[in-house]
Amino acid sequence: MKKVTVVGAGFAGLTIALKLAQKGFTVEIHEKSSRVGGLLGTDYSEHGMAERAANSLILSNRSEKLFQEIGLEPALPLESSKKRFIFRGFPKAVPLNPFEILAVAFKVVPRVLFAKASLKPKAFETLEAWGLRRLGKAATRFLLGPAIQGIYANEPQDLSASLIIGPLFNKDREKFRGMMTGANGMQDLVNHLQQALEKLGVKIHLNSSVDIASLQGPVVLATSASAATELLRSYAPAVSALIARVHMSSLISTTVFFDKAQTKYKGFGCLIPRGLNLRTLGVLMPPYIFAGRDKTYNETWIMGGNNNQDLINLTDKELLNLIGTERKRLFKRQDGILDAKINRWDRALPMYDLELEKVQNELAQITLPAGLFLHGNYLSGIGLSKILERSERLSEKIVSQHG
Ligand SMILES: Cc1cc2nc3c(=O)[nH]c(=O)nc-3n(C[C@H](O)[C@H](O)[C@H](O)COP(=O)(O)OP(=O)(O)OC[C@H]3O[C@@H](n4cnc5c(N)ncnc54)[C@H](O)[C@@H]3O)c2cc1C
Repeated sequence: MKKVTVVGAGFAGLTIALKLAQKGFTVEIHEKSSRVGGLLGTDYSEHGMAERAANSLILSNRSEKLFQEIGLEPALPLESSKKRFIFRGFPKAVPLNPFEILAVAFKVVPRVLFAKASLKPKAFETLEAWGLRRLGKAATRFLLGPAIQGIYANEPQDLSASLIIGPLFNKDREKFRGMMTGANGMQDLVNHLQQALEKLGVKIHLNSSVDIASLQGPVVLATSASAATELLRSYAPAVSALIARVHMSSLISTTVFFDKAQTKYKGFGCLIPRGLNLRTLGVLMPPYIFAGRDKTYNETWIMGGNNNQDLINLTDKELLNLIGTERKRLFKRQDGILDAKINRWDRALPMYDLELEKVQNELAQITLPAGLFLHGNYLSGIGLSKILERSERLSEKIVSQHG
């Protein structure tokens, strides 16, 4: 049987390994750290669960099929999670006033009805420029900016409209049906993926550093852009130099368990527009998203991104003080903290900016060394559903070339 090596055991590495093993390849994974999952994982404590990074993935036919294949029962969100807040003076489900809603409707509705294609972003247009052109000022600042910041962790003037809005115009795009996870959080997904791989005979080498030049057969590089730059430096210098141009941003995810529940705002969470002198990007409310996982009320505070990289250097105490101050302004509450789980992700996420748009275009034109395939969250989407989609497409490409 043909052998494939996968470097990196994050969601990209684990899912491409699964697809290739299912297609009859002998797969070996090399993971630099001492565990699989990469950014994915869950901390468990006497107060409940705390996700290290992603708290769920988009529910789609593809993700449902994955859960089925690895024998994981999906946990679906509560009805309350359908509500999302955006801070404008206080958390609001609708952050625009009636005049602003009317202004957006005048701009968007005729185009949706009669000229949908005119809503498509231009090449190398920032998300802010697209928003101002198509939605207007208020909707860009109080709706588009916070919503996108909740996924891409950066501000509209620093993001590419083509990379972010462009995929929404794909005809075969699945309709949004909500989110899903495992009953024991995202660690459940990681554990089930690992078990399914082991059943298929996939060997996972932990604490393993590989030299790509020494590997036989096809290799899938499924690491972050910064790790790929290092791994390819001498093996494929031109590709390495190209990937080195991907800007990376840092994120901090802090789950705080409180002694009293906040019950005024029940929803998925609250996003925070920029320019309000608040440093938090958004707050998730896990007890109102998934049932039966938490013994005490908790919130996950997401901070960082390109314009707040310095926050990664705050001590635990400084971070919790900052959360305390911002929470007082956001929810007008000061509750006692029972416990906190802090995960600092240093330069972990690619910025979906105009430079990445250029890099992706150039990567599409460059010829990679024979047998080398690139995977990961800097290539065709930051979210897990996009990574899973790429695992499927890439595995088919590998079968067609090496099967
Ligand atoms: C705070 C936060 C919240 C998020 N929330 C969501 C969400 O709710 N939903 C969603 O869909 N997405 C979310 N995301 C995004 C998503 O989690 C990531 O994009 C995704 O997990 C990245 O997977 P990956 O496999 O591409 O990379 P990674 O998870 O970074 O995995 C790469 C792996 O490669 C390994 N590696 C690195 N160098 C080497 C080497 N030299 N040799 C071998 N192995 C190496 C690393 O140790 C790591 O295990 C979130 C991200 C963050 C940070």
